[in-house]
Amino acid sequence: MYFLSTRGNNEKITASQAIIKGLSSDKGLYVPSSFKDLSSELKKLVDLDYKELAYVILKEFLTDYSEKELRYCIESAYDEKFDTEKITPISKVGENYVLELYHGPTCAFKDMALTIMPYLLKTAIKKNNLQEEVVILTATSGDTGKAALEGFSDVDKIKIVVFFPENGVSSIQKLQMKTTKGKNTCVVGINGNFDDAQTGVKNIFSDKEFNNDLRQKGYILSSANSINIGRLTPQVVYYFYSYLQLVKENEITLGEKINFVVPTGNFGNILACYYAKQMGLPVNKFICASNDNNVLYDFFKTGVYDKNRDLILTTSPSMDILISSNLERLLFEISDRDSKKVNKLINDLNTKGVYKIDENMKANLSSFYGEYALEDTVDKTIKDVFDKYKYLIDTHTAVAYSCYEKYIKETNDSSKTVIVSTASPYKFSKDVLSSLSDVDSNLDDFDIINKLSDLSHTQIPGPIKELKSLEIKHNTTCEKDELKSEILKFLGK
Ligand SMILES: *Cc1c(COP(=O)(O)O)cnc(C)c1O
Repeated sequence: MYFLSTRGNNEKITASQAIIKGLSSDKGLYVPSSFKDLSSELKKLVDLDYKELAYVILKEFLTDYSEKELRYCIESAYDEKFDTEKITPISKVGENYVLELYHGPTCAFKDMALTIMPYLLKTAIKKNNLQEEVVILTATSGDTGKAALEGFSDVDKIKIVVFFPENGVSSIQKLQMKTTKGKNTCVVGINGNFDDAQTGVKNIFSDKEFNNDLRQKGYILSSANSINIGRLTPQVVYYFYSYLQLVKENEITLGEKINFVVPTGNFGNILACYYAKQMGLPVNKFICASNDNNVLYDFFKTGVYDKNRDLILTTSPSMDILISSNLERLLFEISDRDSKKVNKLINDLNTKGVYKIDENMKANLSSFYGEYALEDTVDKTIKDVFDKYKYLIDTHTAVAYSCYEKYIKETNDSSKTVIVSTASPYKFSKDVLSSLSDVDSNLDDFDIINKLSDLSHTQIPGPIKELKSLEIKHNTTCEKDELKSEILKFLGK
């Protein structure tokens, strides 16, 4: 097992090297050389807890880590930082299952990977005898930033710089990032949108001169974005875990195919689900849920990916994205691993903002189904689900929920379905509360959080409750062409 680039430059590297590098030097994304088929072993995995299962899955990807190293990373990640021993519990809501991926330290699903990635990276640095210090560079639409900061804070030999769109994240998300402790952390707001931040960071990664300059100063850049396989592979675990939980609780039978509905932005989470299927998980449909920014919906319908449109800011900001980076990994698989085709498509995307896949590739997409939900539907869904089931969901989960309702109407598919819930409702409390009742305009964020708790009879998660008493540690903003100088300033070079 090794990792190769989607763009076919013949590079073959180990998992730990891929975790350090993040992106291949030809700008392609690293993909595993093969997938291990676990379908005949599923029965044996039913009784494993999250950590044991994580080991079974991760050892198939991170093959150059020793058992001891991998277990150390897993044990360090999935501990009391999570507010439930199950790590990713499932709630039955009506006839469906909601997989809650927000029980970690920052109350969003990014914690699933970003609690373990710092340990994977720290171990990789040691294994590869790296002399330089690693600087993690991240563009965030909100949740990645805080989860990465939290994960990497005060980790030895690693520094972390996070850029976020100043007007593209919620006020709670902003507060979470700005209050981050840790001497090795740097947080900067960009005057631009998420794509500006992401493009800026991508350009820095491919800027040879800047990278050489940094290397001479003793630093190498790496990424904590969902393009890093240290992010992607831990996300495969909870798809298996949720499936096996449902088997264990006799909700489904072993081998039964189920649907997963995934609220999608950068296409990392749903791609992990696809990887799970490649490894033998019985999946019927991947329902890819988008908000008003419905590029992916169009793509699955027509085979044309067209980012030439305005980015719309919605109440589900983590999905306000026009270029879903991880889709490149899917293009690689559906073209039967033809890098020539991938290169052509990505080149079209970079030069014209649009590409079209061929009929063979489109045929390989048959288990994907794209849907999208507009803002007023999202708003109404939060209220309907609460009124009907007394179950509170956040805006991103509401996008998924309402996409699933649309899907059922269109297909009558009766397969059991897991709706993936990616954030605590308290992370987006203003929008959630205003779906349930009128919100007085002079309430501050914390009044709103308290009111939401009173009204819904649910508890405020610890990490959100304590925000109020934390000191602001970061207050820098910059223009979208000033990223490099901000990095150098932080490194003191
Ligand atoms: C990041 C995020 C998403 C999108 O996940 P991708 O892996 O980028 O598709 C959805 N919801 C929330 C709350 C997120 O933080």
